[in-house]
Amino acid sequence: MKVYADQAATTKISSRSLQAMTSCCEKYFGNPSSLHEAGREAEAALETARGEIASCLNARPGEIYFTSGGSEADNWAITQAAAVGAKKGKKHLISTAFEHHAVLHTLDALKKQGFEVTLLPVHEDGLVRLPELEAAIREDTALVTVMYVNNEVGTIQPIAGIGEICRRKGVLFHTDAVQAAGHLPIDVEADKIDMLSLAGHKFHGPRGVGALYVRKGIPLGNLIYGGGQERGKRAGTENLPGIVGMAEALKESLQDREEKNARILCMREKLADAILQIPKTRLNGSREKRLAGNLNFCFDGIEGESLLLYLDLQGICASSGSACTSGSLDPSHVLLALGLPAEVAHGSLRLSLDETNTMEEADYIIQVLPDVVKRLRAMSPIWNGVG
Ligand SMILES: *Cc1c(COP(=O)(O)O)cnc(C)c1O
Repeated sequence: MKVYADQAATTKISSRSLQAMTSCCEKYFGNPSSLHEAGREAEAALETARGEIASCLNARPGEIYFTSGGSEADNWAITQAAAVGAKKGKKHLISTAFEHHAVLHTLDALKKQGFEVTLLPVHEDGLVRLPELEAAIREDTALVTVMYVNNEVGTIQPIAGIGEICRRKGVLFHTDAVQAAGHLPIDVEADKIDMLSLAGHKFHGPRGVGALYVRKGIPLGNLIYGGGQERGKRAGTENLPGIVGMAEALKESLQDREEKNARILCMREKLADAILQIPKTRLNGSREKRLAGNLNFCFDGIEGESLLLYLDLQGICASSGSACTSGSLDPSHVLLALGLPAEVAHGSLRLSLDETNTMEEADYIIQVLPDVVKRLRAMSPIWNGVG
């Protein structure tokens, strides 16, 4: 049996999204900036997609900027918010210790330019505490950037609470919603979000395309100089098939969302109950306040990398930490932020499921995983526990 349980790394494009892309390539081949009919049709397709993405977020079309993905949207949002702050003499930024590297490395670059960064703790449950956030805000705070859903442990942050505090204190609020979009209902108005990043390939759309929402009235500086695309802020002929495919995938993902989430939750809970029977195993992050499809475990005495290889041999695609950090042997910065010791964080496994997975697949994982853990522990020089 083949099981793809790495939906947080990327997803397979849906047939609806692929269909929308291919028909876009055939029908709307004009350049949206051209004045002739082919151009006007392409422009109309572009603006339809913009409107669809906006309405999925309860935003206005003029507040959506298309990008090459989640990383670009994060980079753009944070550097621009920092620039807006710096003009008013505000050079303090607040984030969390377990953000995606697209956020953390942007903050590192800003630190070198003289910004001061406060990283909030996320505690053992993988959640930010609102009073700690409020206490960290200063007169010179330009931006709070906190991810909506963490990509490794799946925990869902108190976004509405953060939005409320930031609005009241007059601080810009950006959220990296790359893991949330398509999986949770997002409402930028209700949650008082000023800027938000998303990426098509995390909800069965194409990769290499994403979007940044920026609330009307926030001055957004240029990312790429050139033509007048994206209201002159990000030049270059638009990736129209990607944009159209992403809009289709987002609409499709949000259809019957509650039903899908309930089904995913059934699989996840069955998996969690079974896997936690394995001795010396822990679930990382809050079990309740996490995305329906996410599970992240640590198994004492084994290496996450070997676990992955053994699961792969049995047809199961999973990950240890995130796709972006695997390949390096450093323990996950996310698990360290949750307070796990480095040697424990090394033995981590992330299983991420969504509506395209089945209960039979969950059962197969339950059949294979305990054995693999047992075998690896039997070979492990550092395993001396029971089991
Ligand atoms: C995947 C991911 C990104 C990066 O998105 P790309 O489209 O790969 O650039 C950023 N943040 C989070 C939380 C992610 O999961």
